[in-house]
Amino acid sequence: MTYADIIVDISHEKVDRSFQYKVPEELQHKLQVGMVVTIPFGNGNHERKGYVIGLSDTPAFDTSRMKELTGICSSEETTEERLIALAAWMKNQYGSTMVQALKTVLPVREKVKAKEKRYIILNVSEEEAEKIAGKLESGRCKARARLVRALLEEKKLDYTKASKEFGMTASVLRPLADEGIVQVVQDEVYRMTVDGANIPHEELSILTEPQQEAFDQIQEEWKADPPRPVLIHGVTGSGKTQVYMKLIRQVIDEGKQVIVLVPEIALTYQTVRRFYGWFGEKVSVLNSRLSAGERYDQFKRAKRGEIQIMVGPRSALFTPFSNLGLIIIDEEHEQSYKSENSPRYHARETALYRAQMENARLVLGSATPSLEAYTKAKDGEFRLVKLDARFEDRPLPKVSVVDLREELREGNRSVLSRSLRKAIENRLKCGEQAILFLNRRGYAGFVSCRSCGEVLKCPHCDVALTEHNNGRLVCHYCGYEQPRVEKCPVCGSPYIGGFKAGTQQIEQVLHKNFPKARILRMDYDTTRAKGSYEKILSSFAAHEADILVGTQMIVKGHDFPDVTLVGALAADLSLNAADYRCAERTFQLLTQAVGRSGRGTKPGEAIIQSYHPDHYSIQTAAAQDYEAFYQEEMAYRMLMDYPPAAHMLSVLVSGENEELLEQGMDYLAKFVERIASRYRIPVIGPAYAAVGKVNDIYRKVLYLKHRDERILQDIKDKTEKYIELNSGFRRLYIQFDYT
Ligand code: ADP
Ligand code: ZN
Ligand code: ZN
Repeated sequence: MTYADIIVDISHEKVDRSFQYKVPEELQHKLQVGMVVTIPFGNGNHERKGYVIGLSDTPAFDTSRMKELTGICSSEETTEERLIALAAWMKNQYGSTMVQALKTVLPVREKVKAKEKRYIILNVSEEEAEKIAGKLESGRCKARARLVRALLEEKKLDYTKASKEFGMTASVLRPLADEGIVQVVQDEVYRMTVDGANIPHEELSILTEPQQEAFDQIQEEWKADPPRPVLIHGVTGSGKTQVYMKLIRQVIDEGKQVIVLVPEIALTYQTVRRFYGWFGEKVSVLNSRLSAGERYDQFKRAKRGEIQIMVGPRSALFTPFSNLGLIIIDEEHEQSYKSENSPRYHARETALYRAQMENARLVLGSATPSLEAYTKAKDGEFRLVKLDARFEDRPLPKVSVVDLREELREGNRSVLSRSLRKAIENRLKCGEQAILFLNRRGYAGFVSCRSCGEVLKCPHCDVALTEHNNGRLVCHYCGYEQPRVEKCPVCGSPYIGGFKAGTQQIEQVLHKNFPKARILRMDYDTTRAKGSYEKILSSFAAHEADILVGTQMIVKGHDFPDVTLVGALAADLSLNAADYRCAERTFQLLTQAVGRSGRGTKPGEAIIQSYHPDHYSIQTAAAQDYEAFYQEEMAYRMLMDYPPAAHMLSVLVSGENEELLEQGMDYLAKFVERIASRYRIPVIGPAYAAVGKVNDIYRKVLYLKHRDERILQDIKDKTEKYIELNSGFRRLYIQFDYT
């Protein structure tokens, strides 16, 4: 016998409340999680629709009192049903509960009342109103006359505006309302994020020849049945955005809707403004600072068909459009498209699934595509479209690489190399701007030699070891450990240790070196206050400063025409992150950073300072050669069986009690080892997770790698069942993730 957990009321705040039903014999093999079924409900046993969120072999209560579901509906009829099917797919794909998946897909409605806006309208015919206005004027009721005249002109007056603009008061309004001449009505208004109404309309640019060619190739692909997802590989400044806009226009002209995903960090006023300028009231913009209620409002507008375009970070993917035509993912390689919470979905993969399900088209774009997307494009699964030149053939910046070990040998211990210092000096002289970028992404206590650049790595996993407080060096994939070293194992130099400089120290060094320069700093500290991020960016754009120094947040997508120098201070810090993707991240960040230089009419320059000047990710970024980078990096992934050459599943276990966690992980690892051994897959770890302890919660992780994803899925499903059936895991939190 099978029992189904069903939610009846999908009113968003009630997804936790489920009811169990018996599954009739003939449906037992057909029924799956995510399906829509008919059930008798309540005292009158009225037929209702329900959503299956779980199936089990054991009843949760007395079966004699349990009702039986009556049938399976053909699901995926309504927008909501399709989204629930999407949640079911995410649950299976990424490993989470159905409730977690539903809560990700359906925005939670908060118990907040929409703010109400009051309007005044005429309650009589225009002719009559004319007469009344005349009478009021001759009777010297000027204020009342003015109100009626204004209504004759505008039909509908905003209450607040009316009181502000022509001093309308309640005593003016009341007699008119009492006589039934005017009426006050309330409209539900949405909590708007940016007021799009005041932004002047802008025409779309005319595409350049290469842009038009890219557009045409996409049109050609869209004629295929079914069209493949498109990957636009376009260098920084090539005009990918212009191509997206034309595609959006086309799709909304067909009467369909569009979702545009952009990285959170790029959701600046500039971006939002451009969208409103082009598409006006048809657009809504989400960002993660919106409250759940605000997000809910925007989704409601989408559902009612009041908007056609939703722009936002990964959660915008779940906008309930009824006739979705296109999903665009800009900067598809961005890490922020991967969710950190269960289900740990990737927006790219999830968008692909949603697009297939709803017959919508998918367009990805990047100057530095993810290895995943580019591999699919090479295999022909995606259509590759290229934009190789910058707009108006503006040259890409001239890039040079400085060897920091050489600087040390020459006695220069400053964070600024001699050539970078000279270049900054020159920029200050000509009144141009410079960006200095300290690459700290993924920075986590690695140990390197300042003399020869050697980084201590795990002999099994080929990723950097991390120094712990107890002084031991640890691998976060497999748990390998070794004691700290006093001397570099390669060159014998004693200059071996962690890298300490931060943006603040760099700012001080700059002040000392260039006392007259105006300097802005942008990092986690200076952007915590609301609005400060925008303030720094707009101040720099207005040329109120000469140098902008900051972390990776300064290199993303900004367009500063006066910037002609970009310096990457220690380009390879991110190369040493304890993560197999670190070379890819380094290449992406450097390419993006270099791309900030010379975007205006003046040609640009970039200087990359590095302890590994020969590393392929530095070399290929300097040459702006994506293809060469891809070849090198793929060879490494193939050799080590890292994605996308293989798939990698992690099982993260966390809990407050370290002993309990150790025990739980032991059991779990044994179980996983047992099934994995059937497929001859070794289990890597368990080890302490990269961040081993957060807020007093301990975390351990193990990994599995295999080329066939279905096998990992099978292991995951069995492990999920095992966890469900064992009460010993109740006090631990277990999360699956495809890393
Ligand atoms: P990408 O998104 O590829 O980095 P953008 O679309 O931001 O490139 O374009 C880079 C710059 O060139 C922008 O300032 C943009 O306004 C300008 N540009 C690109 N294409 C055109 C065009 N067809 N007409 C006018 N300006 C363009
Ligand atoms: Zn050394
Ligand atoms: Zn290891």
